[in-house]
Amino acid sequence: MSPFWSPLVHQLAPYVPGEQPQLANLVKLNTNENPYPPSPKVLDALMAELGGDADRLRLYPDPGATALREGIARVHGLDAEQVFVGNGSDEVLAHAFMALLNHRNGDGTPRPLLFPDITYSFYPTYCRLYGITPQTVPLDERFQVRVDDLIATAQATHAGGVIFPNPNAPTGCGLARAEIERLLTALPDRVVVVDEAYVDFGAESAIPLIAAHPNLLVVHTLSKSRSLAGLRVGFALGHAGLIEALVRVKDSFNSYPLDRLALVGALAAMEDSAWFDQTRGAVIASRQRLTAELTSLGFEVLPSQANFVFARHPAQRGAALQQALRERAIIVRQFSRPERIADHLRITVGTPAQCDALVAALREIV
Ligand code: PMP
Repeated sequence: MSPFWSPLVHQLAPYVPGEQPQLANLVKLNTNENPYPPSPKVLDALMAELGGDADRLRLYPDPGATALREGIARVHGLDAEQVFVGNGSDEVLAHAFMALLNHRNGDGTPRPLLFPDITYSFYPTYCRLYGITPQTVPLDERFQVRVDDLIATAQATHAGGVIFPNPNAPTGCGLARAEIERLLTALPDRVVVVDEAYVDFGAESAIPLIAAHPNLLVVHTLSKSRSLAGLRVGFALGHAGLIEALVRVKDSFNSYPLDRLALVGALAAMEDSAWFDQTRGAVIASRQRLTAELTSLGFEVLPSQANFVFARHPAQRGAALQQALRERAIIVRQFSRPERIADHLRITVGTPAQCDALVAALREIV
């Protein structure tokens, strides 16, 4: 605390990212990074951009990120004006909160933003930052998003928008595209943001719904399925009108959110579809094996369509399990709130060897 702070800063509740310990020999299954390296073509592109003397770093990057946006558009069958890129999908999401999800009624009262009660914990943080009123909608008893509840709450509270991850985080549970379409159709005059950070690991993308639904914004990241968490690249897809709002916010904030290396590295990753398919296939196979092994140890594992599983052991407390794993140099994520998930562990799917180490440790502990 300091008297120099702007008043807003006192009210912020900053997001706490998973730890990044600088220890060798750690089995790191806590922040949903990909256990496989990015496409080798990414390194080639970075080296080519540096060009031996790095002279290009003297010059600003393309503020419109045109080549990258065109490349992403090609991969997803859209036009470049339907693509927005940012410094990680967190930045893209932040701009979406400000540009598309912050609405008021005619009398000046805020219209709430809906999201599930158990979801990505950055959403309430952005609400605080931008003065948006959050309105949570409970997941059902099987931790699923219920579209009927979203529609009813949106109508009852005159919500200004809806956001949720698909698959949801930290549960890993996916929502069928037909259900998302039902939501978009029921709420045609509000923006629905679908945060597809983990969609490439087995859920149904909402991207095919963009053509018919101008109220849909789909957000992706290269941090998970493209193994580039360290490069910081995310993007949003939607009708050009929505993208223009994001560009207006971006150009009022930072014209160059992606540096030269990020622009070329991200493009190379997006274009290497063979690498993408091979590595995500390996993660999905590991997830299936890990789910079976955890189940045989007595864990209840939610059906995951992501690169992590969400599991609890009926006889163990979540925090104690996390600590016992830590003592064996394995780190996973545990959330003490909401209470309903305090005994769950969110475990990133690692390589087969990392999953084996986790299962061996858990076998000892439970
Ligand atoms: N959305 C969800 C649901 C996430 O879990 C994450 C990762 N913490 C992100 C978005 C942000 O990812 P990034 O900023 O690395 O693109």
